[in-house]
Amino acid sequence: MSPAVVLDSLGPLIGALRASGHTVVGPVARDGVIRLTELVPGPDDGPTAGRADEQAPGSYRLRDDGRGLVFGHAAGPDSIKRWTHPPRSELFRMRGGVVERTPVEAPKVALLGVRACDLAALAVQDRVFLGGRHPDEAYRARREALFLVAVNCAVPGGTCFCASLGTGPRVTSGHDVVLTELTGPHRFLAEPGGERGAALLAGLPSRPATAADLEAAREVSERAARRMGRRVDPDGVKERLAARRDSPVWDEIGSRCLTCANCTMVCPTCFCVTVEDGTGLADGTAVRTERWDSCFALEFTELGGAPVRSSGGARYRQWLSHKFSTWADQFGTLGCVGCGRCVTWCPAGIDLTEELERLR
Ligand code: SF4
Ligand code: SF4
Repeated sequence: MSPAVVLDSLGPLIGALRASGHTVVGPVARDGVIRLTELVPGPDDGPTAGRADEQAPGSYRLRDDGRGLVFGHAAGPDSIKRWTHPPRSELFRMRGGVVERTPVEAPKVALLGVRACDLAALAVQDRVFLGGRHPDEAYRARREALFLVAVNCAVPGGTCFCASLGTGPRVTSGHDVVLTELTGPHRFLAEPGGERGAALLAGLPSRPATAADLEAAREVSERAARRMGRRVDPDGVKERLAARRDSPVWDEIGSRCLTCANCTMVCPTCFCVTVEDGTGLADGTAVRTERWDSCFALEFTELGGAPVRSSGGARYRQWLSHKFSTWADQFGTLGCVGCGRCVTWCPAGIDLTEELERLR
């Protein structure tokens, strides 16, 4: 018998996650965007229902979906990265020559509604932070504190291209539980991804999934894959980009790029950081903080006191070539999972799927 079950609503699932000590974070419409935000018990508890998004290069709009779906939208600007590799984290404090490492905060967090592309990005992050000779123990602690309730995308965004990279839209690994939202009647197919997920589902009010439920879920993913807004052909992209180093296309892109770094901030795999030191004048305590940085920042490219990538085109080339070429040399995988966030959130509407085509 399939271990899949059918849930009538998400309330008991959220309650069980809280009862096991997790802060539950899920998709909530806020300031015109679907954010991943803590769900707080009360009259507005639970993810926002009935909102769909329209995504295009440089454009994001919410509208009513007309169906009351909980997951009738694609990924918003937040990804799992915010919890595994937070935007700012204190590393240590120093006072009177004594250094004290700051304890790592790794609260138990259940992320509800993460997508297949986000789980693929998490697997990429795992290689970056946990592979090699110097694993990042803070990342490991935060990673292990996560419980991942994924959702199979029913409505891909206009900028998504996970299907062409083989990273979605169907969730296949890296999750504790995966949901598929079904209609007629409204319900959620819930499938465990491992023992933790199975134990959670066993304690919820549910009924066993039928063959019709499983078939309906399969159709949801197939339909989403067919409706994907964009595609990238990964065959030979690594070699192609390496051979286009001197293409005039880079300067043309640079004439449009604002070097604002939005693309790297929303990207679920970008990991670059810098450190900042601050000194408290009152008590003489020095604090070192790590924060996200970007290869689009001029200062980030400084070597020996001067930038080595002074033009926007050179910085865009560095970013795109890293994602689709040199990342594979470093980590054995592409650095892009096709989530489309960098396309949607680029204020200049620069679309890497189009730029890769121009660089063929
Ligand atoms: S590509 Fe777009 S989002 Fe990225 S730095 Fe340039 S203008 Fe900003
Ligand atoms: S490069 Fe763009 S599409 Fe690829 S993973 Fe990053 S944000 Fe998503």
